[in-house]
Amino acid sequence: MEPESPSRRRLLKRLALGASMTTVALARSPQARAAELPLLSPAAPEAKAVYYTEDAAKDTRAPKGATCASCGLYQGANGSSQGPCQLFPGRDVKAKGWCSSWAPQI
Ligand code: SF4
Repeated sequence: MEPESPSRRRLLKRLALGASMTTVALARSPQARAAELPLLSPAAPEAKAVYYTEDAAKDTRAPKGATCASCGLYQGANGSSQGPCQLFPGRDVKAKGWCSSWAPQI
């Protein structure tokens, strides 16, 4: 067996690094990418219009057990702390949040 040349060794290292970086990029789940959306601010006009709160337990308007995580418009993964909402494209909402547009999951 021939000894590897330094340039071949460098090439093999680069290929291995490229393959591992590709694996890491592909392994990221859609939920992880969704978690990168900016959070909806409760102070935003569109949030205020539907009384959005980041913690349903602290808002007396929220029916018992109604949270974003149990809402039909919530698109976050099960067990996620935040996720997208169909009502607020491009923004995440807190899983334990709530707004007056809450709808039961079907
Ligand atoms: S529509 Fe549902 S998921 Fe979206 S903010 Fe309101 S309660 Fe949360």
